[in-house]
Amino acid sequence: MRQSQLFTKIERNAPKDETTANAQLLSRAGFASKLMAGTYSYLPLGLRVLRKIENVVREEMDALNAEEILMPMLHPKSIWTATGGWDKIDVLFKLKSRTEKEYALGQSEEEVVVPLVMKYVMTYRDLPRAVYQIHWKFRDELRSKSGLLRGIEFLMKDMYSFHENQEDFDQFYARAKESYLKIYKRLGLVAKATEASGGSFTEKISYEFMVLTDAGEDDILYCDACDYCVNIEVAKCEEGSVCPKCGEKGLAKARASEVGNVFDLGQKYGKDFDLSFVNRDGKKQHAIVGCYGVGISRLMGVIVEKYNDENGILWPEAVAPFHVHLLALGGVDGEEMYKTLQTAGVEVLYDDRDASAGEKFAEADLIGIPWRIVVSSKTGDGMVEIKRRGEKETKVVTIQEAIKIVKRENV
Ligand code: ATP
Ligand code: MG
Repeated sequence: MRQSQLFTKIERNAPKDETTANAQLLSRAGFASKLMAGTYSYLPLGLRVLRKIENVVREEMDALNAEEILMPMLHPKSIWTATGGWDKIDVLFKLKSRTEKEYALGQSEEEVVVPLVMKYVMTYRDLPRAVYQIHWKFRDELRSKSGLLRGIEFLMKDMYSFHENQEDFDQFYARAKESYLKIYKRLGLVAKATEASGGSFTEKISYEFMVLTDAGEDDILYCDACDYCVNIEVAKCEEGSVCPKCGEKGLAKARASEVGNVFDLGQKYGKDFDLSFVNRDGKKQHAIVGCYGVGISRLMGVIVEKYNDENGILWPEAVAPFHVHLLALGGVDGEEMYKTLQTAGVEVLYDDRDASAGEKFAEADLIGIPWRIVVSSKTGDGMVEIKRRGEKETKVVTIQEAIKIVKRENV
């Protein structure tokens, strides 16, 4: 993409009302723009990042044999009264039509997905099943001050699985947990799986996936010697306690952001909607249901919180909007290099604007694309200067060598 075609422009200063690094940098660099607290427009660069995160998550959900669907965001009141959520869930957005009909905006989709899937599940032979969607959620959150970390409208991946018995559920649950850890790793993050109680509807164990960051809103205790981690809200131990898992001394305390969550919902939703299937004994039974969320837009914010320096963002390769930022300096034509990179399958943002070298360098650092490639009168014929974002060292190489360097990083 040619930078001159982007309708967004870099802003020198961060908006005064944004206090977190993710909101400031994403806004200045033209990735996202705030409409009001908790809602953002995703601009061309930002949408590319969001789609990349989505696709990593999608690949891992597909690997679990979950099927992708898309469900309505606008729900009738009746399904929310059936489960008790209409009165109990304080973040539920409720609206009324001009004919006085009442609706809710989806804050999660159990109320839609359980009747939907159970419509097709007659006997145990139709199980197990898992479906997921990547879609917007609405929650009437009290505080939305952390940029993409807490929206009142935000993008979530939500998967739901259906099982004939606990054993089958447990097996899938363990696989889903592993796939979550893989997702975060692919996105360049280290996520810790905390054990937490199951929230308002169930006391079964759930896992929250936490990434350490001061911009987060959760406090956790974790062990350095093993993978033990717990949310302080529910913890029986405290900072400095002996690890209940491995016996090592000194649990550490940290702030974290929850980037995903898996729940065993048991048979609640089957009971609420009176939906059952015929089991192996020929009897009617409710399915065991699990739900599995990933905060896609929150992840984009968390990645920026983890990967930034005084000059801007440093996108991990897997989610970077482009692999290469090509800068043509001093009136030199970078067109041929741009075409060569594109032909080689490299995603490239080409800064073809008429701007000073200083300005182009500063903006490239702010945008944070992993590789910067410069063509100028200094680099010489057929040669380019290549530099990794965040590193000082530059190298002058042929364009073919540059492509090799970039691609090695991408595999
Ligand atoms: P939190 O404790 O942060 O409010 P939650 O427990 O309410 O999260 P879930 O209902 O399990 O979250 O939603 C699944 C995932 O969606 C969360 O793990 C988180 O990553 C993301 N998420 C939840 N609420 C928000 C929000 N307001 N803005 C952005 N992402 C969110
Ligand atoms: Mg919440």
